[in-house]
Amino acid sequence: MLLIKNLHASIGEKEILRGIDLEVKTGEVHAIMGPNGSGKSTLASVLAGREDYEVTEGSVNFLGKDLLDLAPEERAAEGIFLAFQYPVEIPGVSTTNFLKSAVNEIRKYRGEEPMDAVQFLKMFKEKMAYVNIDQSLLSRALNEGFSGGEKKRNEIFQMAVLDPKLAILDETDSGLDIDALRIVAEGVNKLKSPENATIVVTHYQRLLDYIVPDFVHVLYKGRIVKSGTKELALELEERGYDWIKSQVD
Ligand code: ADP
Ligand code: MG
Ligand code: MG
Repeated sequence: MLLIKNLHASIGEKEILRGIDLEVKTGEVHAIMGPNGSGKSTLASVLAGREDYEVTEGSVNFLGKDLLDLAPEERAAEGIFLAFQYPVEIPGVSTTNFLKSAVNEIRKYRGEEPMDAVQFLKMFKEKMAYVNIDQSLLSRALNEGFSGGEKKRNEIFQMAVLDPKLAILDETDSGLDIDALRIVAEGVNKLKSPENATIVVTHYQRLLDYIVPDFVHVLYKGRIVKSGTKELALELEERGYDWIKSQVD
């Protein structure tokens, strides 16, 4: 599904990603961990096509296409979803209205007919029940005054509606209580299928108590310096990052 080769990316003069290699296959959940400042959010942002970042070397293939050639909205239409670290507040725009336009943009790109109000209502109802989200949350302005848990519930609902092929979740965990983490984890587990894949970026092992990743990677100084299975996350929890840092440095 996703093949990243020797990816280098900079912000201004500063090189942040310094040769990332990563392969994600359908049906897999990958966790990307690593100390603060190692480039985890940068990687997520580069994959989603956010500006500010300049890719200076390497390639990213997503379902046979050169991802780096696509605009952010094209990437979304191809099936990439990025749950932002700090979801934006959009005053006056409800989650449902935001999602209606997002869904129809994607459909337009794919050459499909737009969905009408009746179809949306039906689909939203199904997805709400599926990820256990309350109607009242959806009619409120997007993320305005949402608690951490509500933001996460909302994010999972967006994921359920947009039904991405590759979901990228960037969780700083800061400000996330255990309930919020559980909401994310339950959502990810529920939406996991043999047709999609998930990359979960996280600072702490805690989240992985609930999401069981197929692979765990440690990003440090812009490179994946270690990869393993769930056991690696447990080892990190026990030993911290210093042993990895000293191996690399
Ligand atoms: P992580 O998510 O692993 O904590 P980031 O990707 O956020 O790491 O940051 C990696 C490095 O890039 C850090 O040194 C950070 O200071 C730097 N950085 C991130 N965003 C910017 C920016 N907009 N301008 C300058 N430097 C940035
Ligand atoms: Mg950070
Ligand atoms: Mg980060």
